[in-house]
Amino acid sequence: MTATHFNIIICGGGIGGIAASIGLRKKGHNVTILEGSSSLSEVGAGIQMPPNSVHVLKEYGIFDKFLPYITRPKNICLRRYDNGKVLSMTPLDPEMTKSYGNPYVLIHRADYQRILHESALELGVEYKLNSRIASVDQEAVTVTMVDGNIHQADIIVGADGIRSKVRDSAVVTEEKVLPLKCSNCAYRATIPREVMLSDPEIAHLMTDVNSNCWIGYRRHIMAYPIRNGELYNMVLCHPGEASVGVWNEPGDVEEMRHHYRNFDPIVVRLLSKVQSVLKWVLADLPMLPRYVSESGKVVLIGDAAHAMLPYLAQGAAQAIEDGATLADEINMCKSSSDIPAALKNYQKRRKRRVEAVQAGAHKNGHVWHLPDGEEQEERDTKMMKRDDNNPDQWSDIEYQRWLFGWNAFID
Ligand SMILES: Cc1cc2nc3c(=O)[nH]c(=O)nc-3n(C[C@H](O)[C@H](O)[C@H](O)COP(=O)(O)OP(=O)(O)OC[C@H]3O[C@@H](n4cnc5c(N)ncnc54)[C@H](O)[C@@H]3O)c2cc1C
Repeated sequence: MTATHFNIIICGGGIGGIAASIGLRKKGHNVTILEGSSSLSEVGAGIQMPPNSVHVLKEYGIFDKFLPYITRPKNICLRRYDNGKVLSMTPLDPEMTKSYGNPYVLIHRADYQRILHESALELGVEYKLNSRIASVDQEAVTVTMVDGNIHQADIIVGADGIRSKVRDSAVVTEEKVLPLKCSNCAYRATIPREVMLSDPEIAHLMTDVNSNCWIGYRRHIMAYPIRNGELYNMVLCHPGEASVGVWNEPGDVEEMRHHYRNFDPIVVRLLSKVQSVLKWVLADLPMLPRYVSESGKVVLIGDAAHAMLPYLAQGAAQAIEDGATLADEINMCKSSSDIPAALKNYQKRRKRRVEAVQAGAHKNGHVWHLPDGEEQEERDTKMMKRDDNNPDQWSDIEYQRWLFGWNAFID
């Protein structure tokens, strides 16, 4: 290892932490991930991989590994909640590849994390399970584990999610950063392929592949097939309670059906097939004053820095962009004295972008959850006209170019 190759500890081995390890390892650094859980355990079901994250995975040379597991939706369709009428349609396949060089795809979260994990191990990243961190000393650049062990590094990356210990102990220490609990929570449910195909009323949702989003007052349902068509995946957002940061609380199926009883008969039919649901509360973070510690040796990425509402389907994608930009900046260092400036540059390149994405997610929540009435009618008219300032941000050409055309290695 030359002087420009550092020992880097990443705290947290979720999608953001593992993807960052790949970017950093490819630049030749020694990377260790300390993950608190006892197994790879990405919970939930489907996740959308927009072109801006696919771009990073392609640059890492690992996107081909995802191909057997992804689904390519033709469009994102925003639909009226009670009758399924299409209000806005964003063409995805092949348009995204034509416009941005990368597709918009869907995947199971467990496949996403497993493929990233395998790729990281192949490159020589050390991934330690059962390694729960208690705190980070930003001056000494050390991590103290819950079992009392201490690890030292040149750089520490906090990728430990919305309730980050790295953030609280080493980066934003002047006050406790509390997640902003949203009044909505989400159910997650899946339906097996055979069940979908055996019902002529809903079978088309498996064969005509789209991301469908039914939008209504304070509720929406995002749904699409995953695992190469093995499962139909649904995220259902509605007013309710669940615990912040707990991802697998069992939900009540009857209560879920009650929430959506006035939705499109196709949705009601879909929900009649659901056997069990998980639920969690939605939350994001307030804007942080910084992502880098005073010493310039500890840095935050992903949800630890900028957890966002899932309404723009960008949280994991932004975490992946973070890792690419971070590796790019650290690559400029000629010696360890350059690290603080490199991390500050990372912060400069990322902060405005992710804060704008966080705001975009809030905006979708506002636009989608309008009650029926004048404002909703105006929204629907604007969406259907498809001209400038489309309230469907995915279809707004300027916004789409900024969101999906981003190159985290340059921008
Ligand atoms: C309903 C819903 C739908 C979503 N849909 C999408 C989507 O379609 N597209 C998209 O891009 N994003 C989506 N997201 C957002 C996305 O899931 C997150 O932004 C992303 O998973 C964040 O990754 P992360 O690695 O930063 O954090 P996390 O996934 O939270 O990972 C943090 C890791 O750190 C570990 N950890 C925590 N504390 C410690 C500790 N003390 N010591 C050691 N390890 C620790 C955890 O075990 C975990 O493995 C969605 C989110 C929700 C809630």
